[in-house]
Amino acid sequence: MTSYFHEEFETLPRPALEALQLKRLQATVARVYARVPFYRQSLTRAGIVPEQIKTLDDLRRLPFTVKQDMRDAYPYQLFAAPMEDIVRIHASSGTTGKPTVVGYTRKDIDVWSDLMARTFVATGVHQGDIIHNAYGYGLFTGGLGAHYGAERLGASVIPISGGNTSRQLMIMQDFGSTVLTCTPSYSLYMAEEAREAGVDFRDLKLRVGIFGAEPWSEDMRGEIEAKLNLDALDIYGLSEIMGPGVAIECIEAKQGLHIWEDHFLPEIIDPDSGEILPEGERGELVITTITKEGIPLLRYRTRDITSLTREPCICGRTHARLARMSGRSDDMLIIRGVNVFPSQIESILMRIERVEPHYLLVVDRVDNLDTLEVQVEVDERLFSDEIKVLQTLAQRIEKEIKDLLGVSSKVRLVEPKTIARSEGKARRVIDNRKK
Ligand SMILES: [Zn+2]
Repeated sequence: MTSYFHEEFETLPRPALEALQLKRLQATVARVYARVPFYRQSLTRAGIVPEQIKTLDDLRRLPFTVKQDMRDAYPYQLFAAPMEDIVRIHASSGTTGKPTVVGYTRKDIDVWSDLMARTFVATGVHQGDIIHNAYGYGLFTGGLGAHYGAERLGASVIPISGGNTSRQLMIMQDFGSTVLTCTPSYSLYMAEEAREAGVDFRDLKLRVGIFGAEPWSEDMRGEIEAKLNLDALDIYGLSEIMGPGVAIECIEAKQGLHIWEDHFLPEIIDPDSGEILPEGERGELVITTITKEGIPLLRYRTRDITSLTREPCICGRTHARLARMSGRSDDMLIIRGVNVFPSQIESILMRIERVEPHYLLVVDRVDNLDTLEVQVEVDERLFSDEIKVLQTLAQRIEKEIKDLLGVSSKVRLVEPKTIARSEGKARRVIDNRKK
């Protein structure tokens, strides 16, 4: 039987959910129109006053908000609450220039804690669980977001943060951690360090792993579940919208991530034209927050590529589900005119025996032609085999990539531990064309 944290809200029949969404959307539009000059201007430009939002369909009339708008508003200009009401500030690390800043009122922190607790329960976590929270604490929302949710749920949380893997393993063993939260790539790094330290995950009490903050494939799930001996679930969130806990896979189905629709309105658009796509089609995820006070966002373009379904789920939750993210639109590689996500290559690699879950894609341009090199680690024993065995394997991978993605590549098999490990988000791509 499914456990819920907010049974009534999680299982609201569609008409009641939509009535609640409309009421909250109207209040949000009125709030930003009255309090945020940026929104008053952009709504005015679009010829909209808040009173014109009469149905959920009117959402499509609202202008988009993009990452650049947040950068331009640095640090506080998109805040819809006075500074006296802001109790927490987070920021996402901008790869270039200034970070994106978000502020939370006390109520925002309260809602976030609730939604994160709801998220934990959806993965089968309960009071009495010991949550080993290896997301980074700090300006990044991962650590504190999961932390407050764990406390709200009444579970025991270990605020271990990232890094110092041997200590992580010791604490996991000694403290009897039952739940692990970190990036999927860090979980694999832990598995590798554990093997070397002679720690067997089957002897640990870990039961559930909640992995996010970077895209990962369904095949990577199989790899992680086998290596860490737990149920691995995909969590989604982004600091602009709230942080972790925007959407989560339920343990009952492991089939798409329920986005908490009583707080967030999801849409999928064609990233080029901005047109709303029909249910089931893949495109860019756009989210409108409908309960935030500190920094509500209208139709924020996440640049994450996914699809949406409102098909009923076996867990009984009525909230729409997002397909596993294939990546950010900015991570999409265009190689000789073919669109490729690193996660698609990952899927192919993970299905091949004796290939390890550590890879790096190097893209370059030689004589005006794009080239793709796939570096991937293989089983140590392979290197003692004949060179011919390695060649055959590399060719097989090249062929699979060509057949499935339509792009030519050069596969370079490397020894274990050749590719840099990460305790946070893994670096999967080096694009030399951008230099
Ligand atoms: Zn479900």
